[in-house]
Amino acid sequence: QRKDEFLAMLAHELRNPLAPIRNGLEILRATGSKDQRVSATREMMSRQVGHMVRLIDDLMDVSRISRGKLTLKLEKVALRDVVDAAVEANRPLIDAGGHTLEVDLPESRIEVEGDLTRLAQVLGNLLNNAAKYTPDSGRISLSARREGGSAVVTVRDTGMGIAPDMLPKVFELFIQAGRSIERAQGGLGLGLALARRLVEMHGGTLDASSPGPGLGSTFTVRLPASGQADVAAQGAGEGEAGQQSRPVGTLRIMVVDDNVDAAETFGVILDLLGHQTRVAHSGPEALEIAPGFVPEVVFLDIGMPGMSGYEVVQHLRAMPNTASSTIVAVTGWGSEADRMRAQKAGFDHHLVKPVETSAAQAILHAVSSGLSSTTSSPH
Ligand code: ADP
Repeated sequence: QRKDEFLAMLAHELRNPLAPIRNGLEILRATGSKDQRVSATREMMSRQVGHMVRLIDDLMDVSRISRGKLTLKLEKVALRDVVDAAVEANRPLIDAGGHTLEVDLPESRIEVEGDLTRLAQVLGNLLNNAAKYTPDSGRISLSARREGGSAVVTVRDTGMGIAPDMLPKVFELFIQAGRSIERAQGGLGLGLALARRLVEMHGGTLDASSPGPGLGSTFTVRLPASGQADVAAQGAGEGEAGQQSRPVGTLRIMVVDDNVDAAETFGVILDLLGHQTRVAHSGPEALEIAPGFVPEVVFLDIGMPGMSGYEVVQHLRAMPNTASSTIVAVTGWGSEADRMRAQKAGFDHHLVKPVETSAAQAILHAVSSGLSSTTSSPH
């Protein structure tokens, strides 16, 4: 039990320094250097930070699962959305390896009852492994189909394959086949164990097959499909058109975080996006700025010394100028219980560190288009 608690704490502490680093890289990207070596270095750093975030997230999830603290947010999910999210997250790694990726989805829409983020994590993990364990310029294919009452997704690669005696073991925690030779690939041996657990929590199965070393591998996910087949054919390319980033109206935004680097860099990113930004490093400072600045959106760190984010949000809600601002909790902890607690305390949204710019932007879009609560204009 102590080990599990320690792992949770470790993951939490390791995450904190990543937020300002990731922000810094965003700033470098947005302000752009023309020097090819600089931009290539920046891309490399982004990839490595992304990798680190993934490892830490896996560590956190494993400790959560073993403490029975991982819950799913179930909804009707289109398999296509799951695939898109997983592919997008792994595109850089697949491209870096010079692999070709074929995605084969049927015309008809396949839906499952599931947690979009978690299912994307599962497929993302399989794609990640396929890219990792396939020598450069390999072929990776992902296909989805309906088989009776099941939605079946296979991820196939032309990579190093898996020896028959290892096949049943790769799903065990901390198990890595060919550990000594392939250590260059990195990894903690958590991915597949987590992926299988998550699929099982959805009432499904995850299996592996391989004709042998050097001959590629195939991973198959089976999930109970919901609804009938062929309900609504989805227009091709539909998703992409809607994804284009729209300009966001200028908002007054306050960032509150005692991690000075994280707060300042996040503030600069919001400035670069065209917003008016103020940064505070403690609860009292935030409460001093708020009445005059009248922020429409507040990104508020929960774990601050002296006055926690839970206290700050209560004060902000009691002040007329910020009573109906959109207040976003930013924390290193992302469990369902934390989300509930944040909601009860008066937060509108909850983001986990390191905050991804796209997640923050989604909230800002909603606020500026009137879909989320905002304050009325000052004066
Ligand atoms: P990690 O990748 O961090 O080592 P995983 O749990 O994702 O951990 O995978 C466990 C092991 O299974 C890997 O170390 C690797 O030996 C093997 N493996 C996973 N996916 C593949 C694949 N697509 N091709 C060959 N071997 C794989």
